[in-house]
Amino acid sequence: MARYTGAVCRLCRREGQKLFLKGERCYTSKCAIERRSYAPGQHGQARNKKASEYGKQLRTKQFAKRYYGVLEGQFRHYFELAEKMTGVTGENLLRLLESRLDNVVYRLGFASSRAEARQLVTQGHYTVNGRKVNVPSYLVKPGQVIAMKEGSRQLDRMKAIVEANSSRPVPQWLDLDREKLQAKVVALANREDIDLPIEETLIVELYSK
Ligand code: SF4
Repeated sequence: MARYTGAVCRLCRREGQKLFLKGERCYTSKCAIERRSYAPGQHGQARNKKASEYGKQLRTKQFAKRYYGVLEGQFRHYFELAEKMTGVTGENLLRLLESRLDNVVYRLGFASSRAEARQLVTQGHYTVNGRKVNVPSYLVKPGQVIAMKEGSRQLDRMKAIVEANSSRPVPQWLDLDREKLQAKVVALANREDIDLPIEETLIVELYSK
């Protein structure tokens, strides 16, 4: 799958908020947002902060897309799926994004960032209900058990990742067994379980034009 390969901290600075794209560094004072919270580029500090309604909708969509590391086509696809589901479209959209296997792996602390989670999933380090799944966009369902593969648990790299992320809170919709490095999906995420600081209705308004 195509993905953004540029300097990721620029993306956070453009959005003016942390997107948590660089693992442990994001939680330290080395984070670029902590040090330079203005937009990148020559005129970054001089930009007019008053955005139009369309500008706000666009920035919100860009923020969510970058937060989950998906490109425009796929993001739009999730929106179309969300529209067909019962319930509130914006919340459905976030629920679908949260259900991606790469996001779940990140939420469980089995990877330091969503980008790393995507790479590790592709490399086949995780299972769903005991079967290897190497598709980052795979959508998990309630009742399924997500686990780190037995062989992968013995790797120094994976041990270091688990150790480094052991203090990161795990959302309540995932029931993690830290000893076994596996988790049951108790339910799909509710809006209050998702720590994404956006108004998702702005995305709905943007795509509904
Ligand atoms: Fe964003 Fe992380 Fe870079 Fe901070 S360190 S600017 S949160 S990617």
